[in-house]
Amino acid sequence: MKRLVTVVTGGSRGIGAAVCRRLAADGHDVVIGYVHDTKAAEAVADEVLQAGARGIAVRADTSVEADVDRLFATAEQRLGPVTGLVNNAGVASPLGRLADTDTADLRRVVDVNLLGTLLCCRRAAQLMTPRRDGVIVNISSVASTLGSPGDYVHYAATKAAVDALTIGLSQELGPDGIRVNSVAPGLIDTDIHAATGDPDRVRRVGPEIPLGRAGRAEEVAAAVAWLMSPDASYTSGAVLRVSGGR
Ligand code: NAP
Repeated sequence: MKRLVTVVTGGSRGIGAAVCRRLAADGHDVVIGYVHDTKAAEAVADEVLQAGARGIAVRADTSVEADVDRLFATAEQRLGPVTGLVNNAGVASPLGRLADTDTADLRRVVDVNLLGTLLCCRRAAQLMTPRRDGVIVNISSVASTLGSPGDYVHYAATKAAVDALTIGLSQELGPDGIRVNSVAPGLIDTDIHAATGDPDRVRRVGPEIPLGRAGRAEEVAAAVAWLMSPDASYTSGAVLRVSGGR
């Protein structure tokens, strides 16, 4: 029987790690991409193995073309043809107005969130198109429609671009039997908020959300798992908000 082999970028922590655990439980073999935290990535690979699937951790910065090529080559050599991609790797930068944001932070956010997603989508499209089989889920953000003024408009702009990519690529690849969708999380309780210099954000902003709290990474993973599954066989080009109503 055909094995599902799914590459999850940024699978070592937060939403990506929850996606890896959930996909393993759903029968996917999982390639866990990461950059810095080898221990965390290997711990997720162990959990995937314990769930009865195959899991490998591969260090790969998605903003670097050679790393992306190696990520997919390693996946195919060790686990077989890649059938799925979850573009989850993403970064934010210190909160602030655009006027006060460093060029280096602008570049990093664009490089990882947009160029990285494009490079991974391109590699997946090259591999999946001749096989006429594959599913891609891009993790964007509700920032793409909220704009995030005063916090990180550059981050919001990259996420809007990811949703535009989802729409266009779903139309390019639909005739080849490949589905492409976005999941747009709202406020989710992960380490990303500490990296923006606002470790208290989940506690402070959570009560303002219609459902009265921040989301959990597992709640985003459930939406990703549905889009990856045959239950979503007629869903392509969709942007699914997982945001507690915001
Ligand atoms: P997180 O806890 O900070 O985890 C980020 C993950 O991305 C880590 O696994 C990290 O790897 C990896 N990563 C960072 N830069 C990378 C790169 N250049 N190449 C490959 N991997 C890289 O973040 P998160 O909250 O789970 O966010 C996951 C995704 O959801 C992001 O795209 C984010 O923009 C989006 N999102 C998050 C929220 C939220 O509230 N949390 C809301 C909307 C959207 P290392 O462990 O090696 O550093």
